Amino acid sequence: MRIAIASGKGGAGKTMLTASLHSIWPVRHILADCDVEAPNLQFFVQPKRQKSIPVTLEIPEKVTEACNHCGKCREICRYGAIAQFGKKITLFSDMCHGCGGCFAVCAAHALEKGQRTLGQLEIASLGKNAYIAGSTRIGEVMTPPVLRKLFAELAQMLAQDERDVLIDCPPGVSCPAVTVARNVDAMVLVADPTPFGYADFCLAFEAFRSLDLPLACVLNRSEMPGNAGGDSKLLNFCADQGIPVAGQIPFSREAALTLAQGGLLPELSLAWRTRFETIGASLLQIFGEVPHA
Ligand code: SF4
Ligand code: SF4
Repeated sequence: MRIAIASGKGGAGKTMLTASLHSIWPVRHILADCDVEAPNLQFFVQPKRQKSIPVTLEIPEKVTEACNHCGKCREICRYGAIAQFGKKITLFSDMCHGCGGCFAVCAAHALEKGQRTLGQLEIASLGKNAYIAGSTRIGEVMTPPVLRKLFAELAQMLAQDERDVLIDCPPGVSCPAVTVARNVDAMVLVADPTPFGYADFCLAFEAFRSLDLPLACVLNRSEMPGNAGGDSKLLNFCADQGIPVAGQIPFSREAALTLAQGGLLPELSLAWRTRFETIGASLLQIFGEVPHA
């Protein structure tokens, strides 16, 4: 089963929960960092790197002398990556989405192909488990192709050895998060019971409910001093919308200090470990799955 741990906003605790579930998950699995614009999961788990795979996009790189200035490439490009000034065709390769339309319509074969680097994948071992992470090049906006390549690699890894997959999803509800949501079997929404967290949790629920995925909520930093109404507001929303709550992680200064140093919460104490084991078991029950052996 591929389980994405998501949140409506950054800082809600999804990376913490992904790393924590990894450390208590009862069977071998793959840990995947799909937060490609800020892949931080590695700092919790220290994977042992095995290989890097570049992710590129085929783009028109140069207009050759064969160009007859027909303008068809500019007309077909929906992304404004090609401009025409009189007889001069100008390419804006950073705006190209790699659709290939310009190559298809250029009867003169006047466009030379090139590659734009979008990012890379890292594949690594984590003891008996495996690790895969994507990252985008700084300044690159095309995150979905990096994620699609990551899921293609993941599919190959699973074809060789079927295992559960725990996925740190990009935050928010835009293209990167939706790309991940469309490639998983279930989704955990981490909720932060502040007014900001509540608003973003509602947005995330609205965005992902239409994908017809099993959803569950984990409430992070519950019982926060001075925020008594925050927990109940979120829990009432979950009850009203029929979102099962797999557990709560209490607000704790000790936990915050541990996380700031890259520590795993289940290693804090037996009580913390038991808390995450209970959340993991609850998630499997909600999603109606037994973990892959
Ligand atoms: S489609 Fe080909 S020939 Fe026509 S303007 Fe573009 S590059 Fe030139
Ligand atoms: S490949 Fe597609 S997006 Fe890129 S320049 Fe050509 S038409 Fe535009």
